[in-house]
Amino acid sequence: MPLTETDVRWVEAPKLGFWDQLYLPAMVDGLKTTLGHMFSKKITEQYPEQEPTLPPNYRGVHRLNRDEAGRVKCVACYMCATACPAHCIDIVAAPAPTEWKDREKYPETFVIDELRCIYCGMCEEACPVDAIELTTLYDLTGASREQMVFDKEKLLSVFDQTTKAGTDPVRSRAGKLGAASEPPPQ
Ligand code: SF4
Ligand code: SF4
Repeated sequence: MPLTETDVRWVEAPKLGFWDQLYLPAMVDGLKTTLGHMFSKKITEQYPEQEPTLPPNYRGVHRLNRDEAGRVKCVACYMCATACPAHCIDIVAAPAPTEWKDREKYPETFVIDELRCIYCGMCEEACPVDAIELTTLYDLTGASREQMVFDKEKLLSVFDQTTKAGTDPVRSRAGKLGAASEPPPQ
């Protein structure tokens, strides 16, 4: 629909007073803000020279946990993939090896697209056997989109890396919410 003259609202430019025309009050106001920030507590962290202090419920890169025998804990139940709001978990289940008497299935492939993930922690909450956890690892990078699609071996290597470093002990317990879903301590 074309505009008519009545649709147009003309606005007068505000008249500046004597002090406004000098811009001095505005400059003093700006300087006050700058000086206030100069003497206030610094909150910027000089990463990467300075490592950030992470809250205990920080949600970083995933890992697939291993059981006491070193096998992948996952039983390929698809609960995490079903709970995932970003649809970034892809699992192909297969019958477990015959010598694995404690389960029927295991994940033949287990893939998470770390770029699509929104790090909500729903997969950790949904897992009935505490096989998937979000770690405090935040600086795992890749040179391409493909490198940020983590397969089972990569996710198990994150478990090995984080448990060896002692930064992320296995946190969750079956039937209870994982640390990723708990509020930070007061
Ligand atoms: S953290 Fe959330 S978005 Fe990421 S894989 Fe788990 S459920 Fe999906
Ligand atoms: S919820 Fe746990 S056991 Fe089930 S498929 Fe996901 S990681 Fe595996």
